[in-house]
Amino acid sequence: NLFTVLCRKYRPTAVMVGGTINGRDFAPRFAARLGTGCTSDATELVWDPKTTDIEFVEPAVGGKMMAVITVPVARPQVGTIRPGTFKCVPCGARAHEVIEEHIDFPVADIRTEILDFRADDLDESLNIADADVIVCIGNAIKGADALPRYRRLAERLGGKLACTRPVFDRGVLPFKLVIGQSGAVVKPKLLLSFGVSGAVNHVTGFSDADVVVAVNTDPEAAIFNYCTYGIVGDMDEVCEAMLAKLGE
Ligand SMILES: Cc1cc2nc3c(=O)[nH]c(=O)nc-3n(C[C@H](O)[C@H](O)[C@H](O)COP(=O)(O)OP(=O)(O)OC[C@H]3O[C@@H](n4cnc5c(N)ncnc54)[C@H](O)[C@@H]3O)c2cc1C
Repeated sequence: NLFTVLCRKYRPTAVMVGGTINGRDFAPRFAARLGTGCTSDATELVWDPKTTDIEFVEPAVGGKMMAVITVPVARPQVGTIRPGTFKCVPCGARAHEVIEEHIDFPVADIRTEILDFRADDLDESLNIADADVIVCIGNAIKGADALPRYRRLAERLGGKLACTRPVFDRGVLPFKLVIGQSGAVVKPKLLLSFGVSGAVNHVTGFSDADVVVAVNTDPEAAIFNYCTYGIVGDMDEVCEAMLAKLGE
């Protein structure tokens, strides 16, 4: 309601919404109310100053191609942005004005109700988008029993645990730790990848990582095309060797 009223009043050219669970819920409903277009999951934006159109560039077909979507007629152009895609850049001491608005709308119009609060959802260890160091576990993990050594490695490096989609599907780690097309986009300084094949749906989630170290028993694994350093070997053995080297 609030955004709809403000957009009708100020007529912005574009409204960007974080592609979070709440953002993906909010953006299309908000756009529909204004009768405008909504694109989703952009990883790049190109602005045309002449037309004020924005090209929302987003991975399609499992990341094999990039789709360019515009909203050429309706305004505002609404788009969700994949979380973690853009690095924060200070805008400097640009002049700005704070406008206070008081907007009334009937409470009866609010059709959502908070039914429950789950403290687990706010667990900081599940927020991998801003982690500087990530230890990513692939489907080669034997099971939850095999996780502690990887947790220790992540803790030792001041990082967080993450995983591929099948690790979530098997119930070993929660969905919030999945990196990739349907999960989180991360840009750590260091990503250690254990037992991950390197499917395009997964690797699109860490294309901005600074250094990637991949461990896989298969020397032909695709993950070796996406890493800075590749280690052909058993993931548990390599993890133990790393822990030993770090002086556990
Ligand atoms: C629409 C769509 C969206 C998707 N989104 C995502 C997503 O967001 N994130 C995601 O991760 N996946 C996603 N997927 C799934 C994705 O396509 C792959 O299936 C998945 O990433 C594979 O996970 P993996 O590499 O862990 O497992 P696997 O493909 O099973 O690979 C396991 C690897 O471990 C290696 N290995 C085996 N034993 C050992 C050992 N002892 N030590 C070391 N290495 C070993 C193997 O050689 C193999 O390369 C998506 C799929 C679709 C269709």
